Amino acid sequence: MKKEFVVIGLGRFGGSICKELSDQGMEVMAIDQDEDRVNEFASIATHAVIADTTDETVLKNLGIRNFDHVIVAIGADIQASILTTLMLKEIGVKKVTVKAQNDYHAKVLHKIGADHVVHPERDMGRRIAHHIVSNNVLDYIELSDEYSIVEVAANETLIGNSIVDLNIRAKYGLNIVAIKRGSEMVISPQAYDVIEPNDILIVIGADSDIQRFEKKLSH
Ligand code: ATP
Repeated sequence: MKKEFVVIGLGRFGGSICKELSDQGMEVMAIDQDEDRVNEFASIATHAVIADTTDETVLKNLGIRNFDHVIVAIGADIQASILTTLMLKEIGVKKVTVKAQNDYHAKVLHKIGADHVVHPERDMGRRIAHHIVSNNVLDYIELSDEYSIVEVAANETLIGNSIVDLNIRAKYGLNIVAIKRGSEMVISPQAYDVIEPNDILIVIGADSDIQRFEKKLSH
C-alpha cells in the first residue's frame, strides 16, 4: 500500500519535501494558508488545500488522523508550528516530523510529542563547514550531541592501506562501518580489506575524534 503524507507549510523546505515525495510516487496532501503557494502545488501534490492548521476543526475535517506521516514545515511563525504540532499529536497522528527554527523551538516540540525534529539550516551549515575544513568530508550526519557519522572520500593518506594498517579504531576511537565502492557497499569491512581509490568510507564516532581524524586527512 502506498504511504500517505501531509506536508504543512509550502515554503522552500516544505515545498521541496512535497515535490520529492510526489516524484517518488507517494500520495501527498499539501497544505498552506497562502493561496498562491497552494496553487503552485496543485499539479504536484495529490491534493492541495488552503487552510490554517492552527484550527483544530480544520485538521479534523481534512481527516489528517488517517495519514501515515505529517511534516510540519511552518517556518517563521513558531507559535503556529507549535500549535499545529500539539493538535496533530492530540488528534492521534502517529508520526509527526517538525522543522525547528532554533534550539528553544526544538525543545518545546520534543516536549509536546513531536516524533522527529529537524533543523535543516543548522545541519546543512554544519555539513558545509565540515566539507570546508576537509575537502574529503563529503557528508556529516549528527546522531546525538556527541556522536556523528561522516562520509570521507579516500585520499593518499588512506588509499592502499588495510583497515588494520590504518588502525583508526585505536588511534582515533572511530569505526569504519561501511565502504562505498562504486555501486557496491562493503558493510562492516574486515581488518584486511584494503582502501581503494574512489572509495568512500562511512565512519562513526565521537565528534572530537572525528575532528582529529578530519584534520589528519587534510594534511
Ligand atoms: P522556508 O525556509 O522553508 O522557505 P520559512 O522558514 O521562510 O520557510 P515561512 O515562509 O515562514 O517559512 O513558512 C512556510 C510556509 O508555512 C508559508 O508558506 C506559510 O504560508 C505557511 N504557514 C505559516 N503558518 C501557517 C498556518 N498556520 N497554517 C498553514 N500554513 C502556514
